[in-house]
Amino acid sequence: MASIQLSSSLKHTDAEVLAIHCSDHRFQAGFYEFLNLTLDLDENYDLLVLPGGAQCLTLVEYLPKFSWAGWKWFRFLVEAHDLRRLILIQHQDCGWYKELPFHLHSSSEPRQRQEEDLRRARVALARERPDLSVELYYAGWDANEHITIDAVSA
Ligand SMILES: [Zn+2]
Repeated sequence: MASIQLSSSLKHTDAEVLAIHCSDHRFQAGFYEFLNLTLDLDENYDLLVLPGGAQCLTLVEYLPKFSWAGWKWFRFLVEAHDLRRLILIQHQDCGWYKELPFHLHSSSEPRQRQEEDLRRARVALARERPDLSVELYYAGWDANEHITIDAVSA
């Protein structure tokens, strides 16, 4: 089969950002728009796409092998690419959270569980790499099913 030539070309600019978000296909266009247009990253970011997003960074006791892999990937990207800024996005109706036992969180309300994990991840990341800036976001949808993004406070 002949090569397929795309209009995309190789980027030579250095990335300073790592974004971590969920795999859920319903949100990919929204995540892309948010990162590239709203935050103006212009595709200059590394990306980890995992079920549950950065939740893997909080699983030390419940799923330690998942946690190990999440931290391994995080450390590799941050160190290999000298990244400075992390963007963690959770989203509404995340299927990954439906599989998690409720005792892992102080609330049974889905959004509160996800925001709790974002804050836990920020604390753990700050302990390991206090030089990195960490931003937390929650994606949902409005009455017209347009994707919405809220910043999550510390
Ligand atoms: Zn999800």
